[in-house]
Amino acid sequence: MGFRKKTKAIAAKTPEQLDAMEAAGKIVGDALQAVRAAVKPGMTTLDLDKIAEDVIRSAGAVPTFKGYQGFPGSICSSVNEMIVHGIPSDDVVLKDGDLVSVDCGATLGGWVGDSAWSFGVGELAEDVRLLNEATEWVLMEGLKAMVPGNRLTDVSWALEKATYEAEKKFGVDLYIVDGYGGHGIGHTMHEDPFLANEGKPGRGPVIQEGSVLAIEPMLTLGTEDSVVLEDDWSVVTVDGSHAAHWEHTVAATAGGPRILTPRR
Ligand code: MG
Ligand code: MG
Repeated sequence: MGFRKKTKAIAAKTPEQLDAMEAAGKIVGDALQAVRAAVKPGMTTLDLDKIAEDVIRSAGAVPTFKGYQGFPGSICSSVNEMIVHGIPSDDVVLKDGDLVSVDCGATLGGWVGDSAWSFGVGELAEDVRLLNEATEWVLMEGLKAMVPGNRLTDVSWALEKATYEAEKKFGVDLYIVDGYGGHGIGHTMHEDPFLANEGKPGRGPVIQEGSVLAIEPMLTLGTEDSVVLEDDWSVVTVDGSHAAHWEHTVAATAGGPRILTPRR
């Protein structure tokens, strides 16, 4: 009788449940696109929040973030050196050249979609534009590991490896933010397991047909270290360097990774 380690699997959803999750996810995609279409210098991040909330509620869904652990907004709006969890505010007036990361969730029929992207207000400085394009590319490369039979950290490693490749491809130094990452998702936004954005492959629970993860690389131009501001939410880089954040809710299916938060 020896020690036998049990390999757990990430809970699987049925195809019908994945369809229901995508219905929620599409509303998130619509909200993000409405925000991006509207953004211009002089608007506040609270203006963006109202736009997203309108889209979500008009579609018959509920903004998942609102009230989550006391969070006041329907989106997280994180500008420039802010990485994630920025609180929408009248005081944050957007200006030309800002990089805005918008994270959004919607709940519909008891299922949650969670997605984020970063975009410029007007023209971005060259290195910031490259950071942003690289982060999107890392997400799209990393999520390719979301296939049945892989294990959790195969996705982590895919994200890390893509980050190294992105440094060459985009010609910028990139840093993976320590301590933050993706997560399981379903009836609630944050479910087990935690998904690191870096790490050795081949570990953790098995990804099954129907397993779903929110995959969300957060990259910066100067540091992997962050600090939470006094509002207890806003996470910023310690050196003030810019950060970008891209996220999709993704299912593993027999046909390959299926993005449940498409932007139409
Ligand atoms: Mg999110
Ligand atoms: Mg998330």
